[in-house]
Amino acid sequence: MTEEKSSRLPYRIKEPFLSKTEAALFRSLTDLMGARYVVCPKVALTDLFTIIRPNENVHFFNKIFRKHVDFLLCDLKTYAPSFGVEIVKPIAKEGMREADKFIDTLFFDAGIPLAHIASGETYDPADIVALFRLALAKAGKSAQGIDSVPNCPNCGKMMVLRMRRDGAMRGKTYYGCVDNPHCPGSLEID
Ligand SMILES: [Zn+2]
Repeated sequence: MTEEKSSRLPYRIKEPFLSKTEAALFRSLTDLMGARYVVCPKVALTDLFTIIRPNENVHFFNKIFRKHVDFLLCDLKTYAPSFGVEIVKPIAKEGMREADKFIDTLFFDAGIPLAHIASGETYDPADIVALFRLALAKAGKSAQGIDSVPNCPNCGKMMVLRMRRDGAMRGKTYYGCVDNPHCPGSLEID
Protein backbone atom coordinates (compact mmCIF):
# COMPACT_ATOMS: atom_id res chain seq x y z
CA MET A 1 0.00 0.00 0.00
CA THR A 2 1.34 3.38 -0.99
CA GLU A 3 0.79 6.25 1.30
CA GLU A 4 -2.20 8.42 0.45
CA LYS A 5 -0.64 11.58 -0.92
CA SER A 6 -3.82 13.08 -2.29
CA SER A 7 -5.04 16.26 -0.63
CA ARG A 8 -8.62 15.15 -1.12
CA LEU A 9 -10.73 14.75 1.98
CA PRO A 10 -11.69 11.19 2.90
CA TYR A 11 -15.34 11.45 1.87
CA ARG A 12 -17.34 9.79 -0.84
CA ILE A 13 -20.91 10.23 -2.01
CA LYS A 14 -23.14 7.57 -0.49
CA GLU A 15 -24.95 5.75 -3.23
CA PRO A 16 -27.75 5.64 -3.81
CA PHE A 17 -28.89 8.79 -2.02
CA LEU A 18 -32.42 7.38 -1.92
CA SER A 19 -33.10 3.66 -1.75
CA LYS A 20 -35.56 2.12 -4.21
CA THR A 21 -38.40 2.24 -1.69
CA GLU A 22 -37.54 5.80 -0.61
CA ALA A 23 -37.42 6.96 -4.23
CA ALA A 24 -40.77 5.31 -5.00
CA LEU A 25 -42.43 6.94 -2.00
CA PHE A 26 -40.80 10.28 -2.78
CA ARG A 27 -42.37 10.17 -6.24
CA SER A 28 -45.79 9.20 -4.87
CA LEU A 29 -45.71 11.90 -2.19
CA THR A 30 -44.68 14.55 -4.72
CA ASP A 31 -47.48 13.47 -7.10
CA LEU A 32 -50.08 13.48 -4.36
CA MET A 33 -49.06 16.40 -2.17
CA GLY A 34 -46.79 18.50 -4.35
CA ALA A 35 -49.44 21.19 -4.94
CA ARG A 36 -49.46 22.08 -1.24
CA TYR A 37 -46.21 20.86 0.22
CA VAL A 38 -42.51 20.74 -0.50
CA VAL A 39 -41.45 17.16 0.06
CA CYS A 40 -38.03 17.04 1.77
CA PRO A 41 -36.38 13.63 2.00
CA LYS A 42 -34.18 12.59 4.95
CA VAL A 43 -34.42 15.54 7.29
CA ALA A 44 -32.15 15.37 10.32
CA LEU A 45 -34.13 15.59 13.55
CA THR A 46 -31.59 18.11 14.82
CA ASP A 47 -32.55 20.38 11.91
CA LEU A 48 -36.19 20.14 12.87
CA PHE A 49 -36.04 20.19 16.65
CA THR A 50 -34.02 22.29 19.01
CA ILE A 51 -33.23 21.34 22.60
CA ILE A 52 -34.32 23.37 25.55
CA ARG A 53 -31.34 23.88 27.91
CA PRO A 54 -28.91 21.71 25.91
CA ASN A 55 -26.36 21.50 28.74
CA GLU A 56 -28.87 19.89 31.08
CA ASN A 57 -30.57 17.79 28.42
CA VAL A 58 -27.63 16.00 26.80
CA HIS A 59 -29.54 12.71 27.03
CA PHE A 60 -32.37 14.19 24.97
CA PHE A 61 -29.96 15.67 22.45
CA ASN A 62 -28.41 12.23 21.97
CA LYS A 63 -31.85 10.79 21.29
CA ILE A 64 -32.26 12.97 18.18
CA PHE A 65 -28.61 13.23 17.16
CA ARG A 66 -27.80 11.49 13.85
CA LYS A 67 -31.44 10.49 13.36
CA HIS A 68 -33.69 11.61 10.57
CA VAL A 69 -37.31 11.50 9.55
CA ASP A 70 -37.74 9.84 6.13
CA PHE A 71 -39.75 12.73 4.68
CA LEU A 72 -40.84 16.10 5.94
CA LEU A 73 -43.64 17.88 4.11
CA CYS A 74 -43.39 21.64 4.43
CA ASP A 75 -45.96 24.26 3.49
CA LEU A 76 -45.30 25.45 -0.05
CA LYS A 77 -45.44 29.15 0.92
CA THR A 78 -44.17 29.36 4.51
CA TYR A 79 -42.04 26.17 4.58
CA ALA A 80 -43.53 25.41 7.98
CA PRO A 81 -43.20 21.69 8.76
CA SER A 82 -46.66 20.17 8.23
CA PHE A 83 -46.21 16.39 8.10
CA GLY A 84 -43.59 13.82 8.91
CA VAL A 85 -43.50 10.53 7.02
CA GLU A 86 -41.77 7.40 8.27
CA ILE A 87 -41.29 4.31 6.18
CA VAL A 88 -42.12 1.32 8.34
CA LYS A 89 -40.21 -1.89 7.77
CA PRO A 90 -42.42 -4.98 7.90
CA ILE A 91 -40.30 -6.56 10.70
CA ALA A 92 -41.84 -4.17 13.20
CA LYS A 93 -45.11 -6.14 13.30
CA GLU A 94 -44.65 -7.32 16.87
CA GLY A 95 -45.21 -3.80 18.06
CA MET A 96 -43.18 -0.66 17.74
CA ARG A 97 -39.51 -0.43 18.48
CA GLU A 98 -38.47 1.97 21.24
CA ALA A 99 -36.95 4.34 18.67
CA ASP A 100 -40.21 4.43 16.70
CA LYS A 101 -42.21 5.14 19.83
CA PHE A 102 -39.83 7.96 20.65
CA ILE A 103 -40.17 9.64 17.25
CA ASP A 104 -43.96 9.29 17.52
CA THR A 105 -44.00 11.10 20.84
CA LEU A 106 -41.58 13.71 19.53
CA PHE A 107 -43.86 14.62 16.61
CA PHE A 108 -47.02 14.35 18.67
CA ASP A 109 -45.71 16.81 21.26
CA ALA A 110 -44.73 19.21 18.48
CA GLY A 111 -48.21 18.92 16.96
CA ILE A 112 -46.89 17.64 13.64
CA PRO A 113 -48.81 14.66 12.22
CA LEU A 114 -46.54 11.71 11.53
CA ALA A 115 -47.68 9.22 8.91
CA HIS A 116 -46.34 5.65 8.95
CA ILE A 117 -46.24 4.05 5.56
CA ALA A 118 -45.31 0.40 5.05
CA SER A 119 -42.17 -0.04 2.98
CA GLY A 120 -42.82 -1.17 -0.59
CA GLU A 121 -41.78 -0.92 -4.22
CA THR A 122 -44.98 0.86 -5.16
CA TYR A 123 -47.45 2.89 -3.14
CA ASP A 124 -51.19 3.13 -3.57
CA PRO A 125 -52.22 6.82 -3.50
CA ALA A 126 -55.47 5.91 -1.72
CA ASP A 127 -53.48 4.15 1.05
CA ILE A 128 -51.18 7.14 1.42
CA VAL A 129 -54.11 9.53 1.76
CA ALA A 130 -55.76 7.21 4.31
CA LEU A 131 -52.54 7.09 6.35
CA PHE A 132 -52.23 10.89 6.25
CA ARG A 133 -55.82 11.20 7.44
CA LEU A 134 -55.03 8.80 10.29
CA ALA A 135 -51.94 10.82 11.22
CA LEU A 136 -54.00 14.03 11.23
CA ALA A 137 -56.64 12.42 13.43
CA LYS A 138 -53.97 11.18 15.87
CA ALA A 139 -52.50 14.68 16.04
CA GLY A 140 -55.99 16.01 16.72
CA LYS A 141 -56.16 17.98 13.49
CA SER A 142 -58.78 18.16 10.80
CA ALA A 143 -58.10 16.59 7.44
CA GLN A 144 -58.96 19.80 5.59
CA GLY A 145 -55.93 20.04 3.33
CA ILE A 146 -56.17 16.36 2.45
CA ASP A 147 -59.92 16.41 1.93
CA SER A 148 -59.63 19.21 -0.60
CA VAL A 149 -58.26 16.71 -3.15
CA PRO A 150 -61.22 16.28 -5.51
CA ASN A 151 -62.70 13.01 -6.69
CA CYS A 152 -62.66 12.09 -10.35
CA PRO A 153 -65.63 13.62 -12.20
CA ASN A 154 -65.59 10.62 -14.53
CA CYS A 155 -65.44 7.60 -12.18
CA GLY A 156 -65.47 9.02 -8.65
CA LYS A 157 -62.05 7.66 -7.66
CA MET A 158 -59.36 9.75 -6.04
CA MET A 159 -57.36 12.25 -8.04
CA VAL A 160 -53.65 12.91 -7.89
CA LEU A 161 -51.60 15.89 -8.88
CA ARG A 162 -50.06 15.66 -12.32
CA MET A 163 -48.10 17.95 -14.56
CA ARG A 164 -48.71 18.67 -18.24
CA ARG A 165 -45.69 17.36 -20.08
CA ASP A 166 -46.27 19.00 -23.44
CA GLY A 167 -48.42 21.45 -25.36
CA ALA A 168 -49.16 25.08 -24.56
CA MET A 169 -49.97 24.18 -20.92
CA ARG A 170 -46.62 22.43 -20.39
CA GLY A 171 -45.47 22.55 -16.76
CA LYS A 172 -48.94 23.41 -15.45
CA THR A 173 -50.27 21.14 -12.72
CA TYR A 174 -53.73 19.60 -12.76
CA TYR A 175 -55.60 16.81 -11.04
CA GLY A 176 -55.76 13.57 -12.96
CA CYS A 177 -57.66 10.42 -12.07
CA VAL A 178 -55.64 7.95 -10.00
CA ASP A 179 -56.83 5.31 -12.48
CA ASN A 180 -55.16 7.05 -15.43
CA PRO A 181 -54.57 5.87 -18.19
CA HIS A 182 -57.69 3.66 -17.76
CA CYS A 183 -59.76 6.69 -16.85
CA PRO A 184 -59.26 10.03 -18.66
CA GLY A 185 -60.84 12.15 -15.85
CA SER A 186 -59.00 15.39 -15.11
CA LEU A 187 -59.60 18.75 -13.43
CA GLU A 188 -57.76 22.02 -13.94
CA ILE A 189 -56.37 23.83 -10.90
CA ASP A 190 -57.29 27.52 -10.77
ZN1 LIG B 1 -61.50 8.48 -13.01
